[in-house]
Amino acid sequence: MSGIVIVGAGQAAASMAAKLRAQGYVGSLTILGEEPVAPYQRPPLSKGYLLGEMPLDRLTLRGADWYAANDVRLVMGAQVTAIDRAAKRVEMGDESLPYDQLALCTGAVPRRLPAAIGGDLAGVYTVRSLADVDAMEPEFTAGRHLVVIGGGYIGLEAAAVAAKLGLTVTLIEAAPRILGRVACSETADAIRALHVDHGVKILEGMRLKRLVGEARVSGAELEDGRVIPADFVIVGIGVAPSTALAEAAGLRVENGIAVDEQLRTSDPAIWAAGDCASFPGPDGRMRLESVGNAIDMGECVAENMLGAGKAYQPKPWFWSDQFDMKLQIAGLNAGYDRVVSRIGDGSSFWYFRGPRLIAVDALNDPRAYMIGKRLIEGGKAVTPEEIETATDLKALMK
Ligand code: FAD
Repeated sequence: MSGIVIVGAGQAAASMAAKLRAQGYVGSLTILGEEPVAPYQRPPLSKGYLLGEMPLDRLTLRGADWYAANDVRLVMGAQVTAIDRAAKRVEMGDESLPYDQLALCTGAVPRRLPAAIGGDLAGVYTVRSLADVDAMEPEFTAGRHLVVIGGGYIGLEAAAVAAKLGLTVTLIEAAPRILGRVACSETADAIRALHVDHGVKILEGMRLKRLVGEARVSGAELEDGRVIPADFVIVGIGVAPSTALAEAAGLRVENGIAVDEQLRTSDPAIWAAGDCASFPGPDGRMRLESVGNAIDMGECVAENMLGAGKAYQPKPWFWSDQFDMKLQIAGLNAGYDRVVSRIGDGSSFWYFRGPRLIAVDALNDPRAYMIGKRLIEGGKAVTPEEIETATDLKALMK
């Protein structure tokens, strides 16, 4: 019997497999993953794990015995090289495996700096996999100089870990401000202040000309001619969805493997979930890069493989830990035209699009996050003025 095959052994794959078994699927179930380790959570890679506060065994998503106990065949170190859609087989070099239904959960790969500007010098790292972080970990020694390229969440988290460990950190952002793509200026201001307080030097609106060094990186030359010394460099300039396999198989790809509202690709026997997949949203195709989305898409595919016919309804949430600050985000801020602030013990920034509350960033304010998430997911009508003036936010949920 062919059964279900999942390509990629990350967050989405682990959730999908668990949901399939929880829903009573008893057929053959195989996960093929190119990394040598069982599915693990990536968020701690730029937080607790990098800081040395979280042991390796806590990264794993499910104990290794879970797979055997649930009759899930987990094959690690198995890179799928092609999909033969006509024969319904996936190929791994010379080997191949049949499927009835196939799920692509291939994730995303970090963008790199071009070799022409020093992107392939030794000492230049990206942060995506356990292997990436294990390779850079020995560099994190007090007194050394780190240059981070890119002021998104991953770059900022790595900068925070390094500063905490006593390194001298400079972060370079080409856009006018950090978090330009993902957060309002109020959130960016709060996070910048936090980093500056901890000694991180943040250069915004500053383009990198090239990384310099003989074989190994020794500095970052900026467009204004300055050279910032660097013992090593972390590049956090975003990711690209892993679509090569899907593209080569002739599946529709549009900023990710294109799926319909039930998360089926352009081939009815093939599904996609997680960072690699783009799905229809109210403003066109969207692709989310978050744990919550990978879990929810994975579970939705599992149910639809078994015939549920469910439309995927994203409920976006995200978090970031930097120094002693926990940022929690609910909703999606795309298209916002107004931000309302609440500053108290923690702070929160509420995004409105016209009259509609669409997202909230809560900084050390779990209550604002929890209430904001419920207001957004419940589609509750609240005005900016109500958010601004409410003495008790909870009253707005009634
Ligand atoms: P992944 O977990 O990336 O899994 C994909 C797997 O597929 C990989 O192991 C890959 O090697 C494998 N694969 C690819 N191609 C093949 C092939 N051809 N054959 C076999 N295997 C293949 N999200 C949050 O919500 N909050 C956070 O704080 C947060 N922090 C993060 C910090 C870091 C450092 C990183 C890297 C990510 C972070 N994320 C965070 C994002 C989150 O981890 C991802 O959105 C999530 O892991 C996506 O799950 P996935 O299953 O789609 O992909």
